[in-house]
Amino acid sequence: MPDTTAPTHTDATHTDATHTDAVVIGAGFSGIYMVRQLARLGLDVRAFEAAETVGGTWYWNTYPGARCDCLSMEYSFSFDRELVEAWDWTERYPAQPEILRYLEFAADKLDVRRHFTFSTRVESAVWDDETSLWTVVTDAGEQVTARYVVTAVGCLSTGQTPDFAGLDAFTGETYHTSTWPKEGVDFTGKRVGVIGTGSSGIQVIPLVAEEAEHLTVFQRTPAFSLDCGNRALTEEEKADFKANLEEYRKETRKFPAGLITDILEVNAMDISEEERTAIYEERWQRHRAPDLLMSFPDLFVDRAANETIAEFFRGKIRAAVDDPETAETLTPRTYPLGAKRITLDTDYFATYNRDDVTLVSVKDDPIVGLTPTGLATQDNEYELDAVVFATGFDAVTGPLLGIDIRGREGQTLRDRWADGPTTYLGIGVDGFPNLFMLTGPQSPNVLTNVVVAIEQHVEWTTDLIAHMEKEGVRTTEPTPTAVKEWTSEALALADQTLYPEGDSWYTGANIPGKPRAILSYVGGLHTYTDICDDVAADGYRGFELVR
Ligand code: NAP
Repeated sequence: MPDTTAPTHTDATHTDATHTDAVVIGAGFSGIYMVRQLARLGLDVRAFEAAETVGGTWYWNTYPGARCDCLSMEYSFSFDRELVEAWDWTERYPAQPEILRYLEFAADKLDVRRHFTFSTRVESAVWDDETSLWTVVTDAGEQVTARYVVTAVGCLSTGQTPDFAGLDAFTGETYHTSTWPKEGVDFTGKRVGVIGTGSSGIQVIPLVAEEAEHLTVFQRTPAFSLDCGNRALTEEEKADFKANLEEYRKETRKFPAGLITDILEVNAMDISEEERTAIYEERWQRHRAPDLLMSFPDLFVDRAANETIAEFFRGKIRAAVDDPETAETLTPRTYPLGAKRITLDTDYFATYNRDDVTLVSVKDDPIVGLTPTGLATQDNEYELDAVVFATGFDAVTGPLLGIDIRGREGQTLRDRWADGPTTYLGIGVDGFPNLFMLTGPQSPNVLTNVVVAIEQHVEWTTDLIAHMEKEGVRTTEPTPTAVKEWTSEALALADQTLYPEGDSWYTGANIPGKPRAILSYVGGLHTYTDICDDVAADGYRGFELVR
């Protein structure tokens, strides 16, 4: 597209800047697809990525055992039949190296790499009202002006290490699962401590246990975990998926989590315990989380119903763990199942039957800090050669607020969200024109098969930008009223569920000082998609489009 919007003035902030139509930040699933779509609109697109290649979260999280909790074929792009035909997944639940290979393959096939500048982090994006342009500045000192900025920064890309006393004094090795060394780590002969038993901890623990001389797991809150029963995909499964791609793509968007789900039409509380347990057991054997977790419509809104499935999961822990006391320590009792994200594991609970694995409940005996030679709890000291932090992420807002984003009149997004995020559709914020956030807060983001949510977000945003280009719209931003109403609705919907009852990253509760607010739209991707389509059909209701 001809560069008709390049600034012609000599504003000091722009003199060293090059100009492009759109800047995309991030090269995970969302960045790859967004760049492809904007390039197809004929726009000049520059994209930046901190890593040396594409992959996003799947580039960084290379810890042993890293594996997706969605089925491989479901967790991949569905918009391009050629791409789907050209790739064969090997396993039901893909491991990190295979997903990274897939994203490298997709980036090449979609020809997006040439738009990216890798190993480069975006430090700031500042709006200029006079020119209606963003100035994006990178850590390499490059400045780029652009009409549009699209953030594709992911929801789980800012790691969180607790600020333990003595961290610097510890003389052993430390690792965080989300920034694992690319060359791998050899724990042979070492005494290792893993802190954290969320999805990352639960995946890394069995593999570290196999290698280390001794493993001590420091658990604050036990997890509900589903045995993923991973296996190779059959040729028939692969062929079936490809043959039915279009139907699959249409269907996924009709479900709350972007996953075709077999939800029964009866509530858990309306049938007998015997019938319920038989249903749970049959669905446990399917090894596919949504089939089990969404068996009944009342599971996430009625605590008594939730307790029935929670108790079923607890029974699985008792069956897997030999020592009843250890089993009890591993048993979650303080929050509803699903209020913290369910983990998918391979041999997690059986790991505690090993003689060389110790479980420490730091809820009962809190961590005081690290020592030069290990870790101290209130009542004990543990000598360690290495500590693995599987302590999670500053989710959803963390990656966005890691960039100094300034809208109209210099207002920063950090100030704007000081009390929690406020958005319209999770995509835009008033005062921040032409800024579009993929999988932003108050969109369905992490409560879905995120690739489906990403496709919906990218396609909707592309349509909006195409509309702006066609109609000569210079700026688009949500109205303050639209933002206020959407934010209230997102919060009110969450209050009708059990999510607020879990102290998890879903609500920001895992980060000290972070405002506690649900970070997702809990109404389901199906409802959300309808709302977005309706907003677009109604001339982008709630957005102010200025020519
Ligand atoms: P997480 O779910 O937030 O788990 C962090 C763990 O660290 C929790 O057990 C937490 O305990 C513990 N922890 C944090 N601070 C602590 C402290 N100061 N002292 C003691 N323990 C502390 O993080 P994650 O496991 O990295 O997973 C985050 C999300 O990433 C997942 O929910 C999932 O969406 C995604 N993920 C997915 C996969 C997959 O696809 N299979 C794999 C990895 C990650 P509390 O619960 O008490 O806070």
